[in-house]
Amino acid sequence: MVSQMVIPEGIQTQVDLKNYTSWLVGGKADYFAEPSDIDELKDIYLWAINNKIQVVVLGGGSNVLISDQGIKGLVIVTSKLNKFSFFDSSSAHGFSEDVELSGGGQEERFYIQAEVGVKKAALLKLFLKNQLAPALFLAGLPGELGGGIIMNAGVSESIYPKEFEHIIDWIEVLRPSGSIERLNQGQLEWSYRHLNNWAPGIVVKAQMSCPRGVDVSILEKVKLANQLRLLRQPLDRPSCGSVFKNPTGLKAAQLIDNAGLKGYSIGGAQVSDKHANFIINTGGALAKDIWKVINDVKQKVKQTYNVELETEVVKLGEWSD
Ligand SMILES: Cc1cc2nc3c(=O)[nH]c(=O)nc-3n(C[C@H](O)[C@H](O)[C@H](O)COP(=O)(O)OP(=O)(O)OC[C@H]3O[C@@H](n4cnc5c(N)ncnc54)[C@H](O)[C@@H]3O)c2cc1C
Repeated sequence: MVSQMVIPEGIQTQVDLKNYTSWLVGGKADYFAEPSDIDELKDIYLWAINNKIQVVVLGGGSNVLISDQGIKGLVIVTSKLNKFSFFDSSSAHGFSEDVELSGGGQEERFYIQAEVGVKKAALLKLFLKNQLAPALFLAGLPGELGGGIIMNAGVSESIYPKEFEHIIDWIEVLRPSGSIERLNQGQLEWSYRHLNNWAPGIVVKAQMSCPRGVDVSILEKVKLANQLRLLRQPLDRPSCGSVFKNPTGLKAAQLIDNAGLKGYSIGGAQVSDKHANFIINTGGALAKDIWKVINDVKQKVKQTYNVELETEVVKLGEWSD
């Protein structure tokens, strides 16, 4: 006799994932949970592990392409894991717990400890309020801290810090065994738009820090960066930002534009006229339309320039190709 699996409270079934992604596409999740603290996350995660159910984590969903067939497994959305605290090494008070002072403990630094569901916009606000440099690379970055870490999100401009790698001191990972392991900056292997060697598990928390020296013009810089994004990117349409990584020494957007692909569309998926590395949902796009546009763009750029474009967006769920 097959025993019936008991689904714990807090886990829903057959949940539409469209509204959890910035492209507004994708099918349903077999199982779905949005835990409100790390203990609840752990219980849900261990239930899936014990029942051999595949687990997919979603932050803001601003860098994922979810199949129209959905996700056979449990989708865990981290947006309610949103507690954070901050600490200034020049003051004796502030932080709840075990701050590990980075920078050799010599210079004054500003520290933030945060759960992974904290929005990048909230981090931006905090850095901005304290007139600190990380505000600039965070300006206009959608999604949450966890997705930012996994994707090593950032900007291509020559600024410092320019991506998550430059501000992370440590991350904490919930392992499939249920233990939480802290990985320090020196143990992490970062690359362009990717953190490599943290798995398996779910990143649950991180400490960030930066030197305390203030930048009095940071607000102006952030405003300008936001204006440039508005000018250059189709922010009024659902997208996942840049679809392809920039090949070394080249700009993916320029290659796609020069190959004559601006405006190229299949169904509701279109290469943006404003920024050729964005594929927008013009209304009613399916994930398979977006995937076809991605493949056609790759093929055309390969034919024209003999350059292999690599996707930055992460493909999730059940795909037949
Ligand atoms: C308009 C727009 C502009 C953008 N501009 C930029 C830009 O300038 N620079 C840039 O780098 N990106 C940019 N992006 C892409 C995207 O916003 C970033 O990659 C962002 O950091 C993704 O964060 P997220 O929370 O949405 O992650 P998600 O898309 O939810 O997840 C990304 C990946 O991380 C995994 N993941 C998420 N959280 C966890 C966790 N806690 N533990 C384990 N795995 C996890 C997911 O499974 C997935 O594989 C842009 C996107 C849009 C829509």
